[in-house]
Amino acid sequence: MPSLPKWINDTVESVLSSKFKDCTITKTENISDSLRLVRFKTDLRGVDFAPTYAIGIRINERDFRNYSPFNFDQEKGTFDIIFHLHNTASVGCNYINQLSVGDSMKILLPRGKKLFDMDAKIHFSVGDETSLGNSLSIKDLAEGLNLSFLCLHELEEPAVLETLGLYGYYTSKNRTLEIIETLKSFLKEEKETIRNGEVVFYLTGNGKKMTVIRKFLKSEGVAPSCIKSQAYWIEGKKGL
Ligand SMILES: Cc1cc2nc3c(=O)[nH]c(=O)nc-3n(C[C@H](O)[C@H](O)[C@H](O)COP(=O)(O)OP(=O)(O)OC[C@H]3O[C@@H](n4cnc5c(N)ncnc54)[C@H](O)[C@@H]3O)c2cc1C
Repeated sequence: MPSLPKWINDTVESVLSSKFKDCTITKTENISDSLRLVRFKTDLRGVDFAPTYAIGIRINERDFRNYSPFNFDQEKGTFDIIFHLHNTASVGCNYINQLSVGDSMKILLPRGKKLFDMDAKIHFSVGDETSLGNSLSIKDLAEGLNLSFLCLHELEEPAVLETLGLYGYYTSKNRTLEIIETLKSFLKEEKETIRNGEVVFYLTGNGKKMTVIRKFLKSEGVAPSCIKSQAYWIEGKKGL
């Protein structure tokens, strides 16, 4: 999301007011040193939601940041977000760090690419800390439809997977080779399912890493239509 002058952001918020919701924070929980779960409450009646959608938060006068809601409950009017506090000096992390229960803010409604493929039998989410919320909403939808869900996250603190009930593969940070090896074993076991185009991979997180993984999957015969990807962050770039 581009950095814009304050007056443009103010105008967008007022002209497109139907695209924003006033949200109140009802819960915050630091689930690890660098991951913060925040619950938001608002009127969600009629608000469209799908896994891989993102909301926008205005973190200062000039900038918005994208984050992935999950546990999206229209009846209760609540949704959760897991924020990766990758560097408390960055504007987004600094803003999120200061939030507490009772705070209110305008949030840009969920929107984005609908990547979930209803026809696939196995849904495989690959990413890092920023992908956890996205993985949880893919898992909810897949399991609700009696489809299989798998995940592989590159994490600094893998214990959070148990906290979130998100059991799956994990690797330490910057171990791209380990990610490739894990995927290799999976591809070997699911040769037939993959040949039939029944496994869909959702790649999110770091843009450069995603490119490597995408290339690898293609080289192993996974059809490009079975690889859905969206970069969440790239070194040196602010607020994708
Ligand atoms: C569709 C979408 C959904 C997203 N969902 C989530 C989500 O649910 N939770 C979440 O935490 N993030 C999510 N992100 C990523 C988040 O928007 C970015 O990480 C964003 O850059 C954070 O803003 P910031 O102000 O903290 O850092 P910025 O000011 O944007 O970035 C400063 C620098 O920090 C580095 N950086 C940025 N993010 C990371 C990171 N995660 N790890 C390490 N270094 C980083 C980069 O080098 C960047 O140049 C999502 C992004 C998109 C596009």
